[in-house]
Amino acid sequence: MSDLLEISDLAVAYRTEEGLLPAVRGIALTVRAGEVVGVAGESGCGKSTLVSTVLRLQPKDAEVSGEVRVSGADVLTMAWGDLRAVRWGEASIVFQGALHSLNPVHRVGDQIAEPIQVHEPGLSVQETQERVEELLAQVGLPATRRRAYPHQLSGGQRQRVMIAMALACRPSLIVADEPTTALDVMVQAQILDLLSELVRDLGVGLLIISHDLSVLASVCDRVAVMYAGKVVERGTADEVFAAPLHPYSKALSDAFPRVGDPAARYTPAGLAGDPPDPRDLPPGCPFEPRCPRAKDACTQAEPLLLEFAGDRAAACIRVGES
Ligand code: ADP
Ligand code: MG
Repeated sequence: MSDLLEISDLAVAYRTEEGLLPAVRGIALTVRAGEVVGVAGESGCGKSTLVSTVLRLQPKDAEVSGEVRVSGADVLTMAWGDLRAVRWGEASIVFQGALHSLNPVHRVGDQIAEPIQVHEPGLSVQETQERVEELLAQVGLPATRRRAYPHQLSGGQRQRVMIAMALACRPSLIVADEPTTALDVMVQAQILDLLSELVRDLGVGLLIISHDLSVLASVCDRVAVMYAGKVVERGTADEVFAAPLHPYSKALSDAFPRVGDPAARYTPAGLAGDPPDPRDLPPGCPFEPRCPRAKDACTQAEPLLLEFAGDRAAACIRVGES
């Protein structure tokens, strides 16, 4: 069976007034049925750009190359009619910040019903209603909440509604871009538990994005760490979190989640400075200017992603040195 999601050689560059901005620079990633795969990295490293390509939702000013296959079909080149069937039906996205993604003037039940009505026009009003109630129950909300408007729900409840919408047309793949970033830590844990339970129960694949590696460590089977538009490490979640190979993954895994300050720009503890401007990358390793282990050779060329035993890989010339 082919992978649910198979991304290969993906590159995305934005046309800006100051020239081309390479946001994603050659990424390969797969998600299989029943598997939770995480992508970690600081703000600006290209995570949302990567996510947007899964349903071909990237902005018009983006130049995209490579392949993004959902259940075997390349979404980047398929006809519009096919793409419409893939969206919601085959794969769906849960975005960060449900308050902005939900329509404030419509009841949440009607918003969950909308993709169902579009994709399954044969269903009666009664059947659609039953599906909505079933979905609300799946995400732990009472059926009566279908009549609520988004502002009448808490942040956690709104994110549950977003998850119900993502499940509405029974997709085989769900992509969640920072689904818990706007929530406090307790609610964050509940939403993550809900997502991972649903994935196991329904056998769907989940690609989950977060700037916080500790969030991913608790729910993912495998993770990829991104820096400056590339994957710099990948492996099982346990391996990458407990024994990171790349100094950047190590900095991320040493960082503590910040409580009560979700809007703050996230900088891993012990890591000074910011990621490089994608339009002005250093000649060698993009992480070299911030790296505690950098040596002269690191300024010479960008390291390749070297593969190790299992599905482990890291892009650092110092891996393996003692
Ligand atoms: P992340 O989700 O990891 O924070 P993004 O994918 O949002 O990263 O952004 C990656 C890079 O692309 C950043 O440098 C960002 O400023 C740039 N970028 C994102 N969207 C656009 C856009 N529509 N036009 C131009 N540049 C963009
Ligand atoms: Mg983002």
